[in-house]
Amino acid sequence: MHEWEKIIAAISESSDSLDFPGKRELSTPRHYAYLKVAEGCNRSCSYCAIPLIRGAHRSRPIDDLVAEAKQLVQNGVKELLVISQDTTYYGLDLYRRRRLGELLERLATESGAQWIRLHYTYPTSFPEDAIEAIARHQNICNYIDIPLQHINSHILNSMQRGIDREGTLRLIDRFRQLIPDVAIRTTLIAGYPGETEKEFNELMDFVRQARFDRMGCFAYSPEEGTPAYRLGDPVPEEEKQRRVAELMALQEGISLEINRSRIGRTLCCIVDRREGDYLIGRTEYDSPEVDDEVLIRQTAKGIRSGDFVQVHITDAMENDLTGEVV
Ligand code: SF4
Repeated sequence: MHEWEKIIAAISESSDSLDFPGKRELSTPRHYAYLKVAEGCNRSCSYCAIPLIRGAHRSRPIDDLVAEAKQLVQNGVKELLVISQDTTYYGLDLYRRRRLGELLERLATESGAQWIRLHYTYPTSFPEDAIEAIARHQNICNYIDIPLQHINSHILNSMQRGIDREGTLRLIDRFRQLIPDVAIRTTLIAGYPGETEKEFNELMDFVRQARFDRMGCFAYSPEEGTPAYRLGDPVPEEEKQRRVAELMALQEGISLEINRSRIGRTLCCIVDRREGDYLIGRTEYDSPEVDDEVLIRQTAKGIRSGDFVQVHITDAMENDLTGEVV
């Protein structure tokens, strides 16, 4: 046993995921892994305490990330989930320029991963070469997770997001121009100070028109020490919850329509696990734990977690598809 293996064995009871140079223990199933490309955050979103807790953005060197990704793949990982607090910022602290596009390019060509998925991007100064890399590489999922939080320009300004309504709409258009079948996941905040019925209706219209593939929504909650804390919490809790429920109900209808449009198509799925008579998988449009799943009727034998299968989609609900292995 190597020294690091002894160390892992000694302390693994108290930790879910341990990172060592050149060796990682996974807390996820064997076939997918999170690749944390940076720690901390240099943004100043008014409602967020993370920069206070985690400190400034520290990108990890590209070579280290590529080496870690290769090792994960050698150990059986098929899908890499690229994460950080603000993935769009990647490289700016370390190399004085954004290098997310280059990182994705190298992961796509050197890691051997069959799927690479981009999480926690930030809309301001989204690097065009990252969008191009997603469009160019078959093994980068046509999937972008981009928390937008709101659409009203006054609210976005108060949130210190560095982008307004027009910039947000332009960016979504650009994603869809360059990656025609991209799945966009976003999260929103309802009930931020200053959000009256007017701003909320603007947000509802935005969700109606943008037709996100996946969406989460949270009620605003003031965090001590953040710039927004001094704005108070003027929207009553009950009203915030009503707004969250309305947004989620609207999105459920949109998700159902998008899912129904996939009936009759054959989609590549990664198998996550077995449940009774079904295999549970995901398409490239879905990330583990947060997005939709595909219930695959098991007609073929010998399919295991981590296998990729072609699935003919036969039915759809708001949060799930059903299909059969082709
Ligand atoms: S919301 Fe995200 S990007 Fe904004 S400050 Fe917090 S961690 Fe950074």
